[in-house]
Amino acid sequence: MSLEEVLEKYEPVIGLEIHAQLLTNSKAYSREANEFGAVPNTNISPISLGHPGTLPKFNTKTLNYGIKLGLACNSEITRDMHFDRKNYFYPDLPKGYQITQDKTPICTGGFVLIKDADGNEKSIELTRIHMEEDSGKSSHDIDPFDSLIDLNRAGVPLLEIVTEPVFKNGKEAYNYLIEMRKLVRYLEICDGNMEEGSMRCDVNVSIMPIGSKEFGQRVEVKNMNSISNVEKAIEHEIVRLAGVLDNGEEVLQETRNFDANTGKTIALRKKEDAHDYRYFPEPDLTALHITQDYINEVKRNLPALPNDLYKKYVSKLKLSDYDATNLTDSKGIALYFEELIAHTKNFKAAANWMMGSVKSYLNQNALEIEDFPIAPEKLAELIQLIEEEKINNSVATQKVFPFLLMNPESNPIEIAESNGWITKTDSSEIENVIINIFKNNPNEFERFKNGEKKLTGFFMGQVMREMKGAADPKTTTQLLNKLANEV
Ligand code: ADP
Ligand code: MG
Repeated sequence: MSLEEVLEKYEPVIGLEIHAQLLTNSKAYSREANEFGAVPNTNISPISLGHPGTLPKFNTKTLNYGIKLGLACNSEITRDMHFDRKNYFYPDLPKGYQITQDKTPICTGGFVLIKDADGNEKSIELTRIHMEEDSGKSSHDIDPFDSLIDLNRAGVPLLEIVTEPVFKNGKEAYNYLIEMRKLVRYLEICDGNMEEGSMRCDVNVSIMPIGSKEFGQRVEVKNMNSISNVEKAIEHEIVRLAGVLDNGEEVLQETRNFDANTGKTIALRKKEDAHDYRYFPEPDLTALHITQDYINEVKRNLPALPNDLYKKYVSKLKLSDYDATNLTDSKGIALYFEELIAHTKNFKAAANWMMGSVKSYLNQNALEIEDFPIAPEKLAELIQLIEEEKINNSVATQKVFPFLLMNPESNPIEIAESNGWITKTDSSEIENVIINIFKNNPNEFERFKNGEKKLTGFFMGQVMREMKGAADPKTTTQLLNKLANEV
């Protein structure tokens, strides 16, 4: 059955859980470094190994990051909370329990605005965000005989973000993850890297007959290392579940693994007894009370958020959805653009420069916007020169801009003046150049005179070469036509 056929019969329901590893220097309850890629089992201590008699100490950065994210998602911030132990046995969890928040998550409710599959705005409600710690990492595919365990990750702080079951398809989940990744990057609380596992997503999928009010049995899919694999896993799972139901079988509550090579999911474990975690309040950490003052302070220090900037660009600056999306994709680009528009009111030109010359320079040189040599004020000056028709667009992009890249201290106007790139609108000078060019190209001239209009480009090129690109194209075209009949 194809996905389209399934969707004529069944309605999918999807909820996502994201685990975001936080960009703290040290772990959640101990002082070892929180770093990716260190030599295995070097960032460990008796605390993260859970040795008897050790005591955890809470890293308050985690709290700060949790509140930041909650405020950015319009969640309610919990004022009184405690930690809980989630007990289970697994070789990469030496303590035998995870310190998490069960009854008092740091944030409840809230929403994130995304685009649905048709490009319309949709609000994704969040159930909760809570603080917890990561387990170690087990690798089953490095050594042919043994599973390997790296405990550097044990105790790394996480925020778990749980949504309500409100997604209808893979595309919405995709757009939500793009939005969430943008958000944690703007907030600088997580690097959002799914390939390295610093942002992970579990997908819960169920299907029900169209029109039904009662959700079907859900399955959970893990192990997607990219946002597009999440979309693929969801689409695969919807079709698989429809097959199960159409066969008259029952959907089992289970956790499944996504295999990126086959695009399929395979059953990992049944979930029947998974809820017996014996949660109880963590006795080694004190309860926390958050003051309104503290929340206000975090709020005051929030950076501009991607969705707010997007809305501003579309409604106030009248930029297209495409432009606004591109400009807010990364925080660095958005911040540069913010400075740029503080110096020019030509927003469309500013957007074009960012997405054209600036981005291609960055791409070609594998640089980030933070390394871009030209200050926003200078780029604004360049835009101003074009607006005042002192230089034309091609002189600006092909001559002044590259010059400015090499000499970021100089001024666009001085560069244009000293190189003779200021547009010449003086007809007599252009006329002389044209007459000379006609003389030197008698064949082309004869054909042009006889109405072969496509030679305009040829002559324009000659004039521009002669005048270092500084001839006004409109004047030049008019003169070419006029002189062809007069000479
Ligand atoms: P667990 O720890 O068992 O995974 P959680 O409550 O943390 O449970 O997460 C449940 C996730 O599953 C949420 O994102 C929720 O929206 C989603 N969910 C719950 N019921 C369904 C359902 N019937 N179909 C799809 N998703 C569901
Ligand atoms: Mg789950």
